[in-house]
Amino acid sequence: MKISDKHVVNLNYTLTDNDGQVIDQSDDGSFAYLHGAQNIIPGLEKALEGKEVGDKLTVKIPPSEAYGERDEARIEEVPREMFPDDGEIKPGMVFHAQGPNGEVITVTVVEVGDKTVTIDSNHALAGVELNFDVEVVGVREAEAAELEHGHVHGPEGHDH
Ligand code: ZN
Repeated sequence: MKISDKHVVNLNYTLTDNDGQVIDQSDDGSFAYLHGAQNIIPGLEKALEGKEVGDKLTVKIPPSEAYGERDEARIEEVPREMFPDDGEIKPGMVFHAQGPNGEVITVTVVEVGDKTVTIDSNHALAGVELNFDVEVVGVREAEAAELEHGHVHGPEGHDH
């Protein structure tokens, strides 16, 4: 069975940056996604189209096909009182905030001043070229409920 839209795909993968640093890894077949539903980054989804169980591929994905380019405008200074005042704020800390369209965005603290905090809301992998070593370990047709929800159900997916 070849990978195409409306199929659930299980992968083993190793994701590294250009320095060979491992960013993420899954090697027990437990990673599953619904093909054609934007569950994974566009560059990887495109590379997997038409592949089948046993296929191995190595793909280099530019930021434009992954998490986008870094946007300096997403580094901004905000008032200190936008953060909870119980507890310390330190560079490197990660907070979740609501974006303009109600989506959850992750912001990283860059610098802490007396009255302001500099935050970076770029994705941690924005601007990073991604190298995937992938093996296809499972392909099956998606169930109707999975297509309706746009994600995988079962042990390797959503449980609800
Ligand atoms: Zn669901």
